[in-house]
Amino acid sequence: MRRFVLPAVLVAIASGPSCTPARDSLYRPPRPNIIFIFTDDHGTQAISAYGSRINETPNIDRLASEGMIFRNAFVTNSICAPSRAVILTGKYSHLNGQLTNEETFDGSQPTFPKLLQRVGYETALFGKWHLKSAPTGFDEWQVLVGQGPYYNPPIRSAVGTTEITGYTTDIITDLAIDWLDSKRNTAKPFMMMFQHKAPHRRWDPSLNHLTMYDDVTVPEPDTLFDDYTGRGTAARQQTMSIARDLDDRDLKFEPPEELTPDQLELWNQAYEPKNAAFREANLSGDDLVRWKYQRYVKDYLRAVASVDDNIGRLLEHLEQSGLADDTIVIYASDQGWYLGEHGWFDKRWMYEESLRMPLIVRWPDTVAAGSESTAIVSNLDFAETFLDIAGAAVPPDMQGESLEPILQGATPPEWRTSFYYHYYEYPGWHDVARHYGVRTERHKLIHFYTLDEWELYDLERDPDELTSVYDDPGYADTVIELQAELDRLRQHYAVGEDDRPVDSALE
Ligand code: CA
Repeated sequence: MRRFVLPAVLVAIASGPSCTPARDSLYRPPRPNIIFIFTDDHGTQAISAYGSRINETPNIDRLASEGMIFRNAFVTNSICAPSRAVILTGKYSHLNGQLTNEETFDGSQPTFPKLLQRVGYETALFGKWHLKSAPTGFDEWQVLVGQGPYYNPPIRSAVGTTEITGYTTDIITDLAIDWLDSKRNTAKPFMMMFQHKAPHRRWDPSLNHLTMYDDVTVPEPDTLFDDYTGRGTAARQQTMSIARDLDDRDLKFEPPEELTPDQLELWNQAYEPKNAAFREANLSGDDLVRWKYQRYVKDYLRAVASVDDNIGRLLEHLEQSGLADDTIVIYASDQGWYLGEHGWFDKRWMYEESLRMPLIVRWPDTVAAGSESTAIVSNLDFAETFLDIAGAAVPPDMQGESLEPILQGATPPEWRTSFYYHYYEYPGWHDVARHYGVRTERHKLIHFYTLDEWELYDLERDPDELTSVYDDPGYADTVIELQAELDRLRQHYAVGEDDRPVDSALE
């Protein structure tokens, strides 16, 4: 840390209070700026760089073609606030205290933005925060209140809360670009967290995307009508079913209540004819499920389209302002998501779609353009990666690994080959039972510990995870091996017993 603090003092003495030192002053090694673009609930199935069959994301794809795409980036606890707390602290949920969306984040603990500030970075945060306590470690922050609406959001900052009229994804981008352009301290490298609410439920499109996809049929996933016969109790007891659990607001029979009269008029012009056609058709059974899937997934993809448009705006701004060459741009989302796979919306599970998060990194002159990594990486690694990039010391109690060697094209030979997952929010939304487990390149062992049930999947033979082979004698050795690995990981990460009370309904 000292090597960065001392030069800053020298610069101040040499240049005097009225003179701003040049960014690449001899007195300070040049360090890249970091822009962390982070969305909420964006599954890789809806990113064309990941092979989407259902949409195009040209601006996110551009980051991939100019940078590195991670094929096996996993979240430690697949839900909004816990994922964010892991990213900030570099520690699993049981150590950072954010087990579920219910706790208030303890902002007094060490986080990577605070540590970046100490080595001379200016830090800023725009958009979704979702950790209840006021952000700490940021020189500038303007955030949504809680989840925040898609329209006309109240924006909270250090000086109070103001409502801004417009579409939230556009507004967050306006705030970020404005800061980059005219508010930041250009004498310092910066780290900006640019965090969208979209495409989180309730998937409200912007007014210019209300009829996008109206004339297409989105392909259905193979497992839309999964009956869960190959799995345990948990998969049958969830309440995230497209057939059963989407409500009128999700399905756009009700508009967002935040709309102004002018916005509402445009909204109704788009949805009323579609809703009338639906009533006319009088669907039932599988046809009704198929209709709900189309309605749900199209609105989701419309929300994604605005995210991609706005990433385009940001990238354009970086080019025009001359920042692009000195700025690392990362794209990630807080977890994966179900777009009808297994009949579901939402996340939470250790199953693949919600475990896997998008991660794309563009770092000019360091990351090879169009490269990819299949190493098992995680949101647990982000804090250490950012500190490493900035030349800051990593606290010894952070639990991830810096991705910098992978980004430079040399995955360390001792890189992890197994990954520990733990979901806690039960009782809670969508009734997904608590579970932990281990994933390796080929297998996944899950313990639904409040149900006393185990599941094992062979991802090579059964990539859709339709049939647990936990009780298959052919996998007896694999079970023993993975249970030992699970024990080792739980010990390594200092995971204690989760003895919080559980609703008896699931037992
Ligand atoms: Ca989320």
